[in-house]
Amino acid sequence: MKFDLAHPTQRQLRDGVICGLIAESIVIPTLVTVTLVDHRPVRWGYLAAAVACIFISVVYLALFVAITKGKSGSGTQANVWFIIVCLALSALGFIELASANTFGLYLPAMLVGVAFVCIVGDRRMQIVVGLYVIAWMTLISWTQGLRGADLTTAVVVYASTVAVITLICARTIGSLNGQVNFHQAFDNLDTTFDDLGFTEASASGDAVQNIFSRRLPLVTEVMPAERVAVFVRNRTLDRFATVATWNDQQCDVSDLAQLPVLEDVLRTNSVALDHRYCVLPVGYSVDGELVMVIERSASDGQVDQRSIEAAKLLSSAFFRVTSRANFVSGLPVESRTDPLTGLANRHRLFERIEIEMAHALRSETPLSVAMIDLDHFKEYNDRYGHVAGDGVLRSIAAVMVSNIRGQDLVARYGGEEFCLVMPDTDLAGGHYLLDTLRSGGRDASSDFGVTLSAGLTSWDGMEDTNAFIERADQALYRAKESGRNRVVSIQAFTES
Ligand code: GH3
Ligand code: MG
Ligand code: MG
Repeated sequence: MKFDLAHPTQRQLRDGVICGLIAESIVIPTLVTVTLVDHRPVRWGYLAAAVACIFISVVYLALFVAITKGKSGSGTQANVWFIIVCLALSALGFIELASANTFGLYLPAMLVGVAFVCIVGDRRMQIVVGLYVIAWMTLISWTQGLRGADLTTAVVVYASTVAVITLICARTIGSLNGQVNFHQAFDNLDTTFDDLGFTEASASGDAVQNIFSRRLPLVTEVMPAERVAVFVRNRTLDRFATVATWNDQQCDVSDLAQLPVLEDVLRTNSVALDHRYCVLPVGYSVDGELVMVIERSASDGQVDQRSIEAAKLLSSAFFRVTSRANFVSGLPVESRTDPLTGLANRHRLFERIEIEMAHALRSETPLSVAMIDLDHFKEYNDRYGHVAGDGVLRSIAAVMVSNIRGQDLVARYGGEEFCLVMPDTDLAGGHYLLDTLRSGGRDASSDFGVTLSAGLTSWDGMEDTNAFIERADQALYRAKESGRNRVVSIQAFTES
C-alpha cells in the first residue's frame, strides 16, 4: 500500500485522523494520571508533546506544499488542512496544560481553529473538530480543578459556543466561498430535470431533441457558458450530427462538432475539461451515442475541483434523463454500458474483440486479452459495506481508463471482474501494462484499498472469442491460486 501525501485516498485520510485521535486519547489521560498520582504537574512532558505536535504539523505542511507545488485540488487540500488544524489544536492544548495560565491562550485559539475548519472543510470535518475542541476544553477545565456541576456548566457553555461559531462560519463564509451556492444550483437543476418530465418528450418523434432543448439553459446555471451543443454520433456515417444548441440566438456549432476530444470522450465514457471546453457523454439515442460540448465563458474557465464535479454531475443527470426517456420509448439504452462504472459492458466487449480479431488477422499483429479480478473483495464488502465497495469499483475503473492507450478497451465483465482488450500488444507489453495497473496506475497515486489479480493471454489467430477469454480466465485462476496480487500469462499453443 502506498501513501501519496498529495493524493491520499479517503480511507488513508480517515485512518490517519483516527490514529492521531487514538494516540492523543492515550497520551492525554496518561499525562493527567501521572499528574494526579505525583501531585505535581508534568510540565516538561506537556511541553515535549506540544513541540512534537507542532513539529509534525510543520513537516506535514512543508511536505504537502513541496509535493503539490501549489497544484489545486481543493478536496485534498481541505483534508490536509484538517489534519494540520487537529495537530495544531493539540499543540496548543499541551502548551496550555504546561503553563499555569488557565484558558489564557487556548479558548480563542480553539475558536479560530474551528472557524478555519468551517471555511475549508465539509460537514464531517466540522463535527469532528467541534467535538475535539469540546473534549480538549473539558479536559483542561478538569485538570484546572473544575468538578461536578461546575464542570457540566462549563461543558454546556463550550458546546454551545462551538456550535454557534460552526453554524455562523459554515453558513456565511462557506456560502461566500461559493460552495453552498453551487450545490444549491445543482439541486435546482436536478429537480427541474425531474419536473420537466420526459414522457411527452419521448412519445413524440423528436424525443431527444425535445429533452435537450428544454434543459440546455439549465446547464449554464451550473457551468457558465458561451454556447452549448449536443451531438449524436451516427455510427454508420461516422460523423456527429447536431441534436440541440443553446445560445442567445441560434448559433453555428459546426466548429464544436470538429473537436477531436469528442471521440475520446465517447470511447472512455468520461468527461474532458479544459479552460475552454467541457465535453461530456450524455447517453444514447436510437441514432447513436450523445455527447455535449459546453464552450465555457471566459470569466469562468477554471479547471478546479468544483468545475470537474459540475461536469460529472451534469453528465450523470443527463444520463438519467436520456435513460429514462429511452426506457419509456423502449430503447435498451443500458445494453452497451455498465451503469456503475460507465465502462463498456460484456456485449460491447464481445463486439470489440471480434473487430480486433479481424484487425489482427489483416495486419498480422498480436492481440492480447486480460481478465482482472479483485482479491478478497467479498471481505472488503463485508468490512466496509457495498457502497464503499462500489466506490472502489468505480475508482479502479477510472484508473484503468486513464492508463490504457487509445486503442485498448476495458470492460466490466461482471461483479468485480474486468476484461482488458489490447490490440497490437504481445504478452510482454500486456504484462507491463497490467503491472502498472496493479500498482495503482502510471502516477502510482492510487491506493484502491484492495489488490488485484490478472490473467493474460494472446490470441492464437483461430479460436473464437469464448475460447480466447476462457484461456485468460485460466491464467487468472492460476494467479489466484499462486497467491493473488499478481499477473500470470498463458501463451497460445501456436505461439513459439
Ligand atoms: P478472490 O477473488 O480473491 O478469490 O476473493 P473474492 O472475495 O473477491 O471472491 P469472488 O471474486 O468470488 O467474490 C466476488 C465478490 O465481489 C462478491 C461480492 O461481495 C463482490 N461484488 C461483486 N459485484 C459487486 C458489485 O457490483 N459491488 C460490490 N460492492 N461488490 C461486488
Ligand atoms: Mg470474482
Ligand atoms: Mg475477487
